[in-house]
Amino acid sequence: MTTNNVKYVFVTGGVTSSLGKGIIAASLAKLLQARGYRVTIQKFDPYLNIDPGTLNPYEHGECYVTDDGAETDLDLGHYERFLNIPTSQANNVTTGKIYNTVITRERQGAFLGKTVQVIPHITDEIKRNITLLGETGDYDIIITEIGGCVGDIESLPFVEAVRQLKWDLGSNNGLVIHLTLVPYLKSAGELKTKPTQHSVKQLSESGIQPDILVCRTEHQLPAEIRRKVAQFCNVSINSVIEAMDADTIYDVPLLMRKEKLDERVIAKLKLTHKNEPELDSWKEFLGKLKNPTDEVTIGLVGKYVELKDAYKSIAEAFIHASAANETKVNLKWISSETLNEETIPLTLKNLDGVLVAPGFGERGIEGKIAAIKFVRENKIPFFGICLGMQCAVVEYARNVLGLKEAASFEMNPNTPYPVIDMMEEQKNITMKGGTMRLGAYPCEIKKGTKAFGVYGKSKISERHRHRYEFNNKFLAQYEESGMIASGVNPDTGLVEIVEIKDHPWFVGAQFHPELKSTVLNPHPLFVKFVKAAKEFSKL
Ligand code: GLN
Repeated sequence: MTTNNVKYVFVTGGVTSSLGKGIIAASLAKLLQARGYRVTIQKFDPYLNIDPGTLNPYEHGECYVTDDGAETDLDLGHYERFLNIPTSQANNVTTGKIYNTVITRERQGAFLGKTVQVIPHITDEIKRNITLLGETGDYDIIITEIGGCVGDIESLPFVEAVRQLKWDLGSNNGLVIHLTLVPYLKSAGELKTKPTQHSVKQLSESGIQPDILVCRTEHQLPAEIRRKVAQFCNVSINSVIEAMDADTIYDVPLLMRKEKLDERVIAKLKLTHKNEPELDSWKEFLGKLKNPTDEVTIGLVGKYVELKDAYKSIAEAFIHASAANETKVNLKWISSETLNEETIPLTLKNLDGVLVAPGFGERGIEGKIAAIKFVRENKIPFFGICLGMQCAVVEYARNVLGLKEAASFEMNPNTPYPVIDMMEEQKNITMKGGTMRLGAYPCEIKKGTKAFGVYGKSKISERHRHRYEFNNKFLAQYEESGMIASGVNPDTGLVEIVEIKDHPWFVGAQFHPELKSTVLNPHPLFVKFVKAAKEFSKL
């Protein structure tokens, strides 16, 4: 099966969800990449949605969009932020997608009269998808994260596919890392290994003996605990890896290095030993992040602020920009529904900058618009992303252009001034999944604008996920009164960036810059926004 000798690492999880499989997978990938291997990570999710695009952010957090327009799990964001290489449609597969392919093929008669079953048809399709990226020849190692917990009914076909694949690949070509929890019982003053033992037993019942155990813990694992886990779970003691809670997710690669996770993987896969990991720039980033010389507070105005995962990439982009500016960024999460003329001055008064977040639907929209009016008039640095940019356009129409009833078509289809309108090609679409403007589009930046100063070049490409657009019928009116389109799609003329000339930093982007910010390439819009906030804080 592995003709080009690609090695496969599978990451499963047990005991509870939210143990951070994605971060462990990304950290391992980082270490292997830093040694010179070509690595990618993919995530297999056991739910029935074809992709997370139709999911409410409260379900699984933000929907991460790739260059090729796939709507994916937020873990892919971590993969990109850690590895600094783009992922694609192939890096995220759900049960829904697997079944969809198998059932479509069944309708085409592809199974020649056979009974179509979970085993072998669904498991074969899972295996085919797992090895897809391996066959491109672009990678030495493929890390596959299996979503959910072992023992869940819906995870079973994936676990079975991993069991088969490990066998098919042969020894030294595939290994399983199982992530578990070693809880600390305060009353007993002890770390407990039983949940890990049970979880490994469960995995063994499905025919998989994990090769490496990564144990999430709040306290260091003493030698006798490691010995106990090793003994009861059939792994060698140096394959019991401690994963302590970290200050920041960006510490985890270094913690895993200290625990020799990468060395264990290399030894078990009999990889020819490449260089020691080159992590200088990573460490430099951490050094800057942890030793800030300034501090700013930025308000993040959004609808889903109770669940921080809903704005994961934005929060991470601020961390990257924080290191780049050597400035601590405190994010103040503000629910747009709590904002009105009365509450705004108090809530926004001491902020050094305000970001209005992406989103869908009407809830909280007037709070966002009122907040933008306040920061525009008080010259507080402002950054609007997607819906945030659209709100800035609506606010400007109402309060500067005098078009009091201006609105986005999304919120009021009967407005006489649809300054944000539905795109022509979106008008006849009735299906919801995968039908927005998705993925990377080019943008041309006008010289002499703030945006040009930010990017330092005129041709950029950014990722999109939206249905509505700036209505070019109103563009001349906007530009005459000071809000300009500084970035425009060269093929369609669609407005991608707006900014106000007479304001220290008022920028709205129709795209999602947060999706392209990585540790090694912090996004310039976030970097310059934090810089503007820093300058504002000193006024
Ligand atoms: N709801 C808006 C649209 O569809 C904005 C989407 C977003 O913020 N991602 O255009």
